[in-house]
Amino acid sequence: MLLFKDRHPSRMAGSRKAGGKAGRYVAMALEMGAASAVAIRASEVVLDPRTYLKCMYGCKDWGRNWTCPSAPGAIKPWDFKNILKRYKSAVLVHCPDKKSSQKISYALERQAFVDGHYFAFSLSDCSLCDQCAHPEPCRLPKQARPAMQALGIDVYATARRQDLPISTLKNENETQNWYSLVLIE
Ligand code: SF4
Repeated sequence: MLLFKDRHPSRMAGSRKAGGKAGRYVAMALEMGAASAVAIRASEVVLDPRTYLKCMYGCKDWGRNWTCPSAPGAIKPWDFKNILKRYKSAVLVHCPDKKSSQKISYALERQAFVDGHYFAFSLSDCSLCDQCAHPEPCRLPKQARPAMQALGIDVYATARRQDLPISTLKNENETQNWYSLVLIE
């Protein structure tokens, strides 16, 4: 799990790049309560396979969640690189908590799919169940989605590239920022 601290509270509301096809999903994210949402090019997503180290060593959820990169058959960061190359546009969603992050990004994915973007896919991490059913079968496989970092996305670098707030936390009581990404087409 990555924890983020808000460094720039004044930047938490609104969107700055709402143009293009992804613009309507930016508006939708804000209407649903996102602190911020930005339409970006998929090529602006920063990849770094070192995220795998941080997942595998030190995360208490390793081996305990179906959306974790430890799950059988999980896509590895070095494989996701080729998948990401096929996308052109995305929406980066900034929320104050994990549950709203997942709810909003999944709703955006669904809307984009209905709009004809049939490869729309959200990366949000899964907090649908209080405790993951793993190793029993996933309870909500249609909605469970991996986190950005689980696929090798450097969330810090990706958010900072958009001038969005993010920094490491000293402890879990500090203000958290959650980021999710919706790949549109
Ligand atoms: S939906 Fe529930 S069981 Fe499935 S991955 Fe998410 S937390 Fe685990």
